[in-house]
Amino acid sequence: MRILLVEDDRLLGDGIRAGLQQAGFAVDWAEDGRAAELALANEPYDAVVLDLGLPRLPGMDVLGRARAARNAVPVLILTARDTVPDRIAGLDAGADDYLIKPFDLGELQARLRALIRRGSSQPQALIEHDALRLDPAARNVFWQGRPVDLSAREYALLHALLLNAGRVLSRTQLEEKLYGWGEEIESNAIEVFVHHLRRKLTPALIRTVRGVGYTIPRQPE
Ligand code: CA
Repeated sequence: MRILLVEDDRLLGDGIRAGLQQAGFAVDWAEDGRAAELALANEPYDAVVLDLGLPRLPGMDVLGRARAARNAVPVLILTARDTVPDRIAGLDAGADDYLIKPFDLGELQARLRALIRRGSSQPQALIEHDALRLDPAARNVFWQGRPVDLSAREYALLHALLLNAGRVLSRTQLEEKLYGWGEEIESNAIEVFVHHLRRKLTPALIRTVRGVGYTIPRQPE
């Protein structure tokens, strides 16, 4: 799941990014309104965390322009101003939720997951594939009825492949789903995660398509 974080406070932005990455989100961080506008025009995101007081373009304008461009990405507003008019203005401008600073990182993670569930076409749909069961709402995975302990990135990789079952995803496409801007990516990171998943689940689940990428084949009807 890829999140655009828009926050000009470096300390706060750093903390939010780290917290979201820990929860398994890939995070792109824009530090002003124009950078956010550009990112939204060019990249698909699963959700946006938007500060309102921003340099170059106010957060409310970033939101207004995205909605005017028919971008329906779920948006959660961060605001220090706990005033009713601000919140109403944000929701009127097309925000889906808001949090008042200071807030708890765990609450931000939970609200983002709820927004993404609501925004997706198959909310909370369990994914069942062979003896594998993945529950996006609870973020847990079962193999042959037994829980499997996956790291946040292993989970994200498995989820991406299952959502695209039958399609081959390239290493670059997978990296984009797992990593945010500027994050250090080991050249063999995806191979390593695939290796872990095969070991923890079953070797036959994920197929390597030489020179192209990886796929989980569709189940026979
Ligand atoms: Ca700010």
